[in-house]
Amino acid sequence: MGSGASKSLCKTGIKEVRLDESITKRFMQLNQHGKVQAEYVWIDSDFWDGQSFDLCCKTLTLPDAPMSLDEIPIWTYSGDDAKDIVIVPRRTYRDPFRPGDNIIVLADTYEEPSGEERDHGRPTKFNTRAACQAAMQESEDIGEDPWFGFEQEYYLLDPSTDWPLGWPKGKYPHKDTAFYCAVGSTKAVARELIEAHYRACLYAGVMIGGINSEVAPAQWEFQVGPASGTQGPDDLWMARYILQRLCEEYHVGVTFDPKPVPKQAGIGCHTNYSNMATRTAPGGMEAIKTQCERLRSAHDKHISNYGIGNERRLTGKDDTAAMSDFSWGIGDRAASIRIGCKVAQRDCGYYEDRRPAANMDPYLVSQLLVETTLLRKES
Ligand code: ADP
Ligand code: MN
Ligand code: MN
Ligand code: MN
Ligand code: MN
Repeated sequence: MGSGASKSLCKTGIKEVRLDESITKRFMQLNQHGKVQAEYVWIDSDFWDGQSFDLCCKTLTLPDAPMSLDEIPIWTYSGDDAKDIVIVPRRTYRDPFRPGDNIIVLADTYEEPSGEERDHGRPTKFNTRAACQAAMQESEDIGEDPWFGFEQEYYLLDPSTDWPLGWPKGKYPHKDTAFYCAVGSTKAVARELIEAHYRACLYAGVMIGGINSEVAPAQWEFQVGPASGTQGPDDLWMARYILQRLCEEYHVGVTFDPKPVPKQAGIGCHTNYSNMATRTAPGGMEAIKTQCERLRSAHDKHISNYGIGNERRLTGKDDTAAMSDFSWGIGDRAASIRIGCKVAQRDCGYYEDRRPAANMDPYLVSQLLVETTLLRKES
């Protein structure tokens, strides 16, 4: 997810292989005799730079359909040194790639427990979910019930050139054509993939809220939420996973790099946020303003956790606020934080943090939002 400026977007030096789909189809029709395939999905490092992260997965056969999370085994995989990493199931989804009783298990990762310890050990470096979950629990305990809604932007790429899908290599689309929410085959590129993704998310049980084409061809957005606590971040990671898997099937590349195409608007993951105080009228708007001022004080800390390479995107142009400035405003798409006009009218609702890059980690972003606005954490 978090590629820096110098890395190629989706090229790995490996040529894409296309096999005969009709053969696969024959085998996928075979009876699996009540056994359930559980695809475990978790987050680990992407490059060996110890900074970027991406999704991993592997499958376990279960004897039958589990009735609850407790019936899904804690599993392990081998980390980069001799140690095993423990993977702990956290949320299940129906598997759109293997229909029937088969499931996807979103998990987080822990260091191997030592000695007699029955419980799992310390969260690994890439397990940002554990701290997020703790912050959500703390907010719950003070009656705030934080909700999150994400707007995930992404670019589809030609995997052999790393240039946006459908764009002639090295060339740009018409400057004067409007592509946002576009209709038409040379404007809305690869809509069938987006449709498949939308339906697959609904089938899986991801709280996908909608989709739209974005400001350039092959740039798209989907929304997740609003959902309470860790469900929003979990569902966003699952929606990203489903997207990556679909791109495998269509032989298409995808990137969340904040600025994949020079001289074009970058891509973000606007994070919409509310809590009991902001959702309650009268006084919600006052609470939003207070929280925005707390976010001003913690701007640098938030920015440093809002995605690698975000400085290439937050330039003050293309509906972004400059990275070094913090601002909030009503109906202002050039501000760091935008409060919707309707929210101001109703005196309650949610606000939109426009700073996070498309490659941000929603566990980190949502944890920071509740810590800064509700829990007043300094660390
Ligand atoms: P934009 O006008 O910025 O493009 P979108 O329609 O794409 O807005 O996205 C709106 C987002 O706001 C969605 O992700 C939705 O889940 C989220 N949202 C709506 N209500 C709330 C709420 N009360 N709390 C948090 N997020 C919310
Ligand atoms: Mn092996
Ligand atoms: Mn949007
Ligand atoms: Mn958008
Ligand atoms: Mn937005």
